[in-house]
Amino acid sequence: MFEKANGSAVTDDAGKADGISEVRRQEALLKTGALQNAILTSANFSIIATDEKGIIQLFNIGAERMLGYQAAEVVNKISPSDIHDPQEVIARAQALSLELATPITPGFEALAFKASRGIEDSYELTYICKDGSRFPAIVSITALRDDYGDIIGYLLIGADNSIRKQVELELHDAMAVAEKANLAKSDFLSSMSHELRTPLSAILGFAQLIESGSPSPTVSQRRSVDQILKAGWYLLDLINEILDLAVIESGKLSLSLEPISLAEVLNECRAMIEPQAHKRGISVRFPWFEVPCFVKADRTRVKQVLINLLTNAIKYNKVGGAVVVDCVENVPGRTRISVQDNGEGLSTDQLMQLFQPFNRLGQEASLEEGTGIGLVVCKRLIELMGGAIGVESTVGTGSVFWLELNLTDERAVAADVVEPVTVPQVKVQANALLRSVLYVEDNPANLMLVEDLMARRSDIRLLSARDGISGIEIARASLPDVILMDINLPGISGIRALRILADDPTTAHIPVVALSANAMPRDIEKGMEAGFYRYLTKPIKVNEFMETLDLTLAFAKTEAIRLHKEKRA
Ligand code: MN
Repeated sequence: MFEKANGSAVTDDAGKADGISEVRRQEALLKTGALQNAILTSANFSIIATDEKGIIQLFNIGAERMLGYQAAEVVNKISPSDIHDPQEVIARAQALSLELATPITPGFEALAFKASRGIEDSYELTYICKDGSRFPAIVSITALRDDYGDIIGYLLIGADNSIRKQVELELHDAMAVAEKANLAKSDFLSSMSHELRTPLSAILGFAQLIESGSPSPTVSQRRSVDQILKAGWYLLDLINEILDLAVIESGKLSLSLEPISLAEVLNECRAMIEPQAHKRGISVRFPWFEVPCFVKADRTRVKQVLINLLTNAIKYNKVGGAVVVDCVENVPGRTRISVQDNGEGLSTDQLMQLFQPFNRLGQEASLEEGTGIGLVVCKRLIELMGGAIGVESTVGTGSVFWLELNLTDERAVAADVVEPVTVPQVKVQANALLRSVLYVEDNPANLMLVEDLMARRSDIRLLSARDGISGIEIARASLPDVILMDINLPGISGIRALRILADDPTTAHIPVVALSANAMPRDIEKGMEAGFYRYLTKPIKVNEFMETLDLTLAFAKTEAIRLHKEKRA
């Protein structure tokens, strides 16, 4: 093989070498020969050549070093398929058999098939050494042809791939570790959220109870309670926002991007912020949509961002100021929603610090509470939705905060539009039927709070259970109108208990409201999917809690009437 290659180089050179002296021709020959020799004796590549039947004819020093055989032990004796992992050779033969719809024997043919058809390729294969040890190799296989184009053998050039494989393996391991750490972080955040909320629940719950209790608190007591509540709600905001930011930064936030109607979302925002605007004497103007406008975004998160911008525009406005919301398609395919206020405006310096966490731009000493994280979260959220957020401001005139989102032609599916929450007027009449509510809760402070709240309602009888199993027993025995269910319970979880109740025909009709300190959006989604009628998060907000309870009692009543009619029919 070596002789032949050398020989053909001579003929080629000789043909072109007319004007070159014999000495130079000899020098060139020697140089070419030396190079070819060096290539063949290179220790970095295994060079194996076979005859047309696949019997090894050449086995270079590199191959000897890599595989541990001496050339004399393999030349004219074995085929390259004998030094490959038999499983790989079988797999290649099977793949080929499928491709060609004809059986291929798992030997050299399977290795050389592509090369014999003139297709050059390299493969990741496992070489087996003389001592039985194995290593991954990258092998390129080429067919060798004579002057007539007939195959006279095959050339296999292999390189040790162990280091790359090792790096790949380490990378894979590192990724698995990072993934695990991320999961642990996510779990940690979720449980920290729960741990922080539980004591806050008691603080905020009982403070609200005192605030609205009878006899009413004295002026100085009310002042103290107001401070407790204010600090408590602030702490709650802080916990929520830090956790939100941490979840976003950890890359664990799941957004569901879908077509949403901008008019609808803005309407919901309007309903939520009008009371605060009214309280401060700020007028709010929203745009009117002549044609429906749909953006691709996560409904909950867009609302969160808009509410944040609107709340800021109200909070940092001047007395008697206005907030103007506008909506324009500034670039084709993209809509810009802007929120304009008549506040003090922001200086260039302040604008530059605006989207940094915990930076309240000198508002630290002001009466307005705020964590300074809100806008950072907004920016991350909008960017995750493929949008942009920004601000233009003039000192003394006010600011315009804007966000841009991608428009879409698709229409929102009406199915998951949240039903508007209309709070029915429940008037307690002297002869009203006594309604019963079962509260399954292991935390004594929460239980006490709800007991105190229910003590104010002469129409409600409260039953309680400390864990899921006894909750189910009491529900079966006394068939309450409504069940309030904690999620983190000793023994079975609130979600398991809910499933058991829903599967039991005697209790399936009872609406169950979750009341949990698991307040991450994912927790709430999971809860609603599990089939809770409503999902309330702790700390309990007394008004929201009472409204939800009345709503659920009203629902239970119509359900009872419907079931009664069904039975009679
Ligand atoms: Mn609990």
